[in-house]
Amino acid sequence: ENHATANIGVVGLAVMGSNLARNLASREGNTVAVFNRTYARTEELVDAHPEAGFVSSEQIDDFVASLSKPRTAIIMVQAGRGTDAVIDQLVERFEPGDIIVDGGNANFHDTIEREKRIAPTGIHFVGAGISGGEEGALNGPSIMPGGSEESYKTLGPILASIAAVAEGEPCVTHVGTDGAGHFVKMIHNGIEYADMQLIAEAYDLLRTVGGLEPSAIADVFAEWNKGYLESYLIEITAEVLRQVDAETGKPFVDIVLDQAGSKGTGVWTVQNALDLGIPVGGIAEAVFARAVSSKPEQRAAVQATIRSRPDVQKADDVAAFADDVSKALYASKVVAYAQGFDAIIAGAEKYGWHINKDKIAKIWRGGCIIRAQFLNRIADAYDENPDIATLLEAPYFADAVREGEAAWRRIVATAALSGVPVPGFGAALSYYDSLASTRLPAALVQGQRDFFGAHTYKRVDKDGTFHTLWSGDR
Ligand code: NAP
Repeated sequence: ENHATANIGVVGLAVMGSNLARNLASREGNTVAVFNRTYARTEELVDAHPEAGFVSSEQIDDFVASLSKPRTAIIMVQAGRGTDAVIDQLVERFEPGDIIVDGGNANFHDTIEREKRIAPTGIHFVGAGISGGEEGALNGPSIMPGGSEESYKTLGPILASIAAVAEGEPCVTHVGTDGAGHFVKMIHNGIEYADMQLIAEAYDLLRTVGGLEPSAIADVFAEWNKGYLESYLIEITAEVLRQVDAETGKPFVDIVLDQAGSKGTGVWTVQNALDLGIPVGGIAEAVFARAVSSKPEQRAAVQATIRSRPDVQKADDVAAFADDVSKALYASKVVAYAQGFDAIIAGAEKYGWHINKDKIAKIWRGGCIIRAQFLNRIADAYDENPDIATLLEAPYFADAVREGEAAWRRIVATAALSGVPVPGFGAALSYYDSLASTRLPAALVQGQRDFFGAHTYKRVDKDGTFHTLWSGDR
């Protein structure tokens, strides 16, 4: 018999839910109730971890009865229909004031709808983005909860108890209402795509133009990880490049099929940025780069037509070249993050969220895939002035880009001359140059639009809207 002894429950005990439940149980003050549709999975977890003191139930009614009030349960099941099934079961049994948390990778539009549907019952529905994969769930993820202020009073301390800690602060904050948490998690993943693509381009350049072997490139990345590029992604990239395939003795990276997959959150980021009218070229190119890689027929077709590839502009001074690459990587990364934060700002405006940008940067310093010291600089920039038009104007980033600019241009030019694809570096540089240009050819585009569609234009020298009677009109 389960009495209401657990302050927190977890529903869904696959890898993420099990790890999150173990994390919760390991923290002082938590008693954790667990439930899974298939009871065998519950038994397996409870048997493997007697130290956790789990309160387990075979029936959902007993699970609900085992929770103290306000009842708080985190759902970690398959996103989509599985999540809705569990939400319905809990809504039927919970009371006003109780809290249902969806910790899965839900689409934030679904989270907004679910919150709307559940709100009339008086039950709080909280969509919480949880980043950090299996390891993060167990040892401390970065957590991005949405939902009501009121629910956060109960939920906040529980989430803070299991979140990663960065510089003494738990990597969790109340992001905003309803879908704000899942929205910000989505943007996190978009930025993650961009960061990974930029690192991959840096590797390609070091290998093709720099002439370095994967193990030597691993050393370069390990060195970079001690400086301004320090990040989890740079760190694991060094490890991946050092890996040798046991079967063939070849570098691991050479035996992997070069077609990158994705689960969709990068695509969501770009789709929503398009809807919001926010240029996120760095993120979009990263999503497209995976798509291009996964078109073997088109790649083969073009390769079959080629007579000769451009000569690779081999680097004479490899150390100097690597330094250039690191600067191009950093500048491109700043652009990708600036674009991601622009999307957060636009989303907050459209959906009515008060999102504290420096807090978002801070909760990404630990637990999640994009964790890095670098995020302190973003937090500082928004802390100093939350209303900057772009991160690129913040003094620290403006200096960094200015300092790396010449190297950035050399790298994009060398890549183009050598036939090395750099969609990330190139798009980031073009974005920067677009912002930096005092005059854009958008003026000509306006002229074209006025010519064929009478879309009108504005003038540089007086107010108003104008249309020219083009000779082509008559
Ligand atoms: P999963 O494979 O996505 O889902 C399996 C779990 O869902 C099992 O507990 C399964 O129960 C349950 N389930 C599926 N359909 C159900 C239904 N109709 N009713 C009740 N339960 C149902 O598990 P996961 O890999 O641990 O991921 C859980 C969530 O976390 C997902 O939303 C996933 O996208 C997200 N995730 C996040 C990260 C991250 O880094 N943040 C990483 C991985 C996953 P049975 O045992 O009964 O089949």
